[in-house]
Amino acid sequence: MFAWYLTQIRNHGSVRATRLFCRVIWRRMFVIFCNWTLPARLTCPCCGWQGRRFLDYIEMGYAVPNAACPRCDSHSRHRALFIWLQDEYRIREKAGIALVFSPERALAPLWQTATNLNVCKVDLEPVRGADILADLMQLPFVSDVVDLIWCHHVIEQVEDVPVALEQ
Ligand SMILES: [Zn+2]
Repeated sequence: MFAWYLTQIRNHGSVRATRLFCRVIWRRMFVIFCNWTLPARLTCPCCGWQGRRFLDYIEMGYAVPNAACPRCDSHSRHRALFIWLQDEYRIREKAGIALVFSPERALAPLWQTATNLNVCKVDLEPVRGADILADLMQLPFVSDVVDLIWCHHVIEQVEDVPVALEQ
């Protein structure tokens, strides 16, 4: 949280950053109070957390109320993908080799349940439990040995998308 605050100061100045920081703290306290005092009505499919409200996602200039799971930090897109992978795609029944680029914490339990799938987590940095450090534009794999590629919220950050897609 402190690193986030410092980034906001760098990007927007100390007055605006402090105002935003106070707003985030206030909203978090509100959500914690709601979850502590009111009956649960939400369940996170990714981690099983139950409560009244998800945390608000607040950045400079916009806010998404009731967005992030307090336990696994999943947002609505993660929760929808988790349910789709589990119920429609039936990831637990899949077998073979899967490459998961920039693995997200919210989907980690799902990859662990796919016991017949050899999941290899790939990232640029040694974070989020990456098994292999690699750039999407220079992959150290033979392309026809992979059965599943999961690349969510990544391709828009790649420098040269056609090169990455040819890999
Ligand atoms: Zn969760």
